[in-house]
Amino acid sequence: MFHEKSVTGHGAWNRLFDETIASLRFSVDGKEQTLEPTLSMMQDVSEEVRHKASDAIAATLKNNLRVFSLVTNTLAKDKEISDRWRKFGDVADSRHLANRVEREVVDALVAAVRAAYPRLSHRYYRLKAKWFGKDALNHWDRNAPLPQAPQRIYAWSDARETVLSAYAGFAPEMADIARRFFDERWIDAPVRTGKAPGAFAHPTVPSAHPYVLLNYQGKPRDVMTLAHELGHGVHQVLAAGQGALMAQTPLTLAETASVFGEMLTFRALLAKTTDVAPRRALLASKVEDMINTVVRQIAFYTFEREVHTRRREGELTADQLCEVWMGVQGESLGPAIKLQPGYETFWAYIPHFIHSPFYVYAYAFGDCLVNSLYGVYRRAEHGFVERYFDMLKAGGAKHHSELLAPFGLDATDPAFWNIGLSMIEELIAELEGMEG
Ligand SMILES: [Zn+2]
Repeated sequence: MFHEKSVTGHGAWNRLFDETIASLRFSVDGKEQTLEPTLSMMQDVSEEVRHKASDAIAATLKNNLRVFSLVTNTLAKDKEISDRWRKFGDVADSRHLANRVEREVVDALVAAVRAAYPRLSHRYYRLKAKWFGKDALNHWDRNAPLPQAPQRIYAWSDARETVLSAYAGFAPEMADIARRFFDERWIDAPVRTGKAPGAFAHPTVPSAHPYVLLNYQGKPRDVMTLAHELGHGVHQVLAAGQGALMAQTPLTLAETASVFGEMLTFRALLAKTTDVAPRRALLASKVEDMINTVVRQIAFYTFEREVHTRRREGELTADQLCEVWMGVQGESLGPAIKLQPGYETFWAYIPHFIHSPFYVYAYAFGDCLVNSLYGVYRRAEHGFVERYFDMLKAGGAKHHSELLAPFGLDATDPAFWNIGLSMIEELIAELEGMEG
């Protein structure tokens, strides 16, 4: 019955959200445009452009808050009804079950990240404001490109050598698997008209081999993406032995090898980048990525928890939804980001809240887990490489506690998450040191 009713229940509300978002137009200098190009203007080099884009987003969202509030309230109620009939206790328990992770583990992650906000995002944005010659940045400058960040262009052959040598530095067998992707032409790299955007590694079926899609343009970011997708590729090759039903890992562990491969490559690039300006640019872009993956997604999760919990007592008004949003954003971004009028509406366009409630913590989970693993690796513990390969070969056949136990790690312990968070802190500290 739930399944049949979903067509006129949450399915219909999801569709209303999608159709509304697609129909919205945002007015910048008299030009009417859709959401995506307006959002990407918030990363423009010109502060004026970023400011105008932010105002345009706020104005249109404000005009449509009634619909977004109704959609949000209805979906939270719909979920509460299903959760009650299915006897889920906590608002996020159904997601935890789907992710094969326990509530205590996610709680430990969330507690560790929230406690670290001052040491991570607050501290980094204070530094970023200083680079712009200010005490604090307006919210539209949060993802502004850094002042004078020169970018080296990497030829495809350089990218290949960078990633393969970073992988070989960890384990020659890992580079051997990754090399097959180049030698056997399993990668579609160039940008072409009509080609899908973004990047992915697809495992196809275990009896065949994975394929990687990229849109390679030679930026340092593109080298990291190559390292990321090859990490997935290596994981998919190693896990293929589990067969079609068990090879795939749950969401929370799906990004392990990719983020780890990216980290190895980032470290290799960093070691080769000794000039101050490019080194700062490389470090800062890594830190911003990590803050957007870890801090921002945990703030999103905190927003959802509060909305769903309060919805159990009754509907939230648009103003109340905006207040909850401003509360979690202020807490996570800190005093060096000024939340200007209009920002209170920015919860309304985030598709994850509508399409897959509580999904967002999985991003933070994956990133922090890998940082913690990398922390163990750096302490050069004997036998790390073998244990790491065993973990990847297990695919989806083992629980995270079984996978992490050989490393002496326990995800229910906030100290485990702190190993990973301290890696981000270390990068921020190096950036601060470059100031003097
Ligand atoms: Zn990935």
